[in-house]
Amino acid sequence: MMPHRPTVLGVEVTPGTHEDLLQYIRQYLDSDQGLLHVVTANPEYVMTARKDPSFAEVIRSSGLVTVDGAGLAIAMRLLHPDVTSERYTGVMLTPDMAQLSAETGDGVFLLGAAPGVADDAARVLRERYPEANIVATWAEGSPRAEHDDETIRRIRESGATIVLVAYGAPAQIHWIHRNFTALESAGVKVVSGVGGAFDYISGHTPWAPALVRRMGLEWLYRLVREPRRWRRQLVLPHFALLVILEFIRSKLRGGVE
Ligand code: UDP
Repeated sequence: MMPHRPTVLGVEVTPGTHEDLLQYIRQYLDSDQGLLHVVTANPEYVMTARKDPSFAEVIRSSGLVTVDGAGLAIAMRLLHPDVTSERYTGVMLTPDMAQLSAETGDGVFLLGAAPGVADDAARVLRERYPEANIVATWAEGSPRAEHDDETIRRIRESGATIVLVAYGAPAQIHWIHRNFTALESAGVKVVSGVGGAFDYISGHTPWAPALVRRMGLEWLYRLVREPRRWRRQLVLPHFALLVILEFIRSKLRGGVE
């Protein structure tokens, strides 16, 4: 188990470099420890967790909580400057899982996204990692409970041990939580919600320019391209304010100790 988890507004985040996190997942696949839920977290997740105790519990009980959103990376640097915590997004995790699969033979199942997108993502991943064992894609279902039985049946029949779920946030987290036991009995060892990763990997959604990504401004780029996101991003100023308050409180505490 990863040691001590620092928190951001009460939500625990797993520290580590990209390689540490990948190594943890690799070790999970090699052993018989049941199912690992990898949460790729962002400020919206943290804010939802503050309001919704069941969402908070799902994150808390997951094996790995990585820093996905740029805002969460800034919060970690501010609140835990001594902790190494590299960003690890769904777009990074997805090809990593294909590469792992190429090494170990573990089957990867790509679930969700718009019709054709996961198929195109699978094609790109197979080109990049010819040995990757991408066993199936399934875009016909939905995150709604009425589709769970068929989706789980397809996963079980595929023999996949890694399932990547592109149902967007927070639907993918709820989907994974609701189906956790069924996934575990189907032999799945690693599951993660990867948001829009298949859209980017398949080329259906263009990547933000490298400079924009380096500056951690993908969220702004996405907002300009998809203005419907403004409502979701409304929580960001509130998140920033709460993080600054937590930072000031920690400094005050540090001052009297
Ligand atoms: N998606 C889906 N079914 C749904 C809702 C979303 O397959 O009912 C897919 C959508 O096509 C996209 C992915 O979920 O590929 C992620 O959506 P979004 O970009 O909104 O998520 P985020 O990356 O912001 O979490």
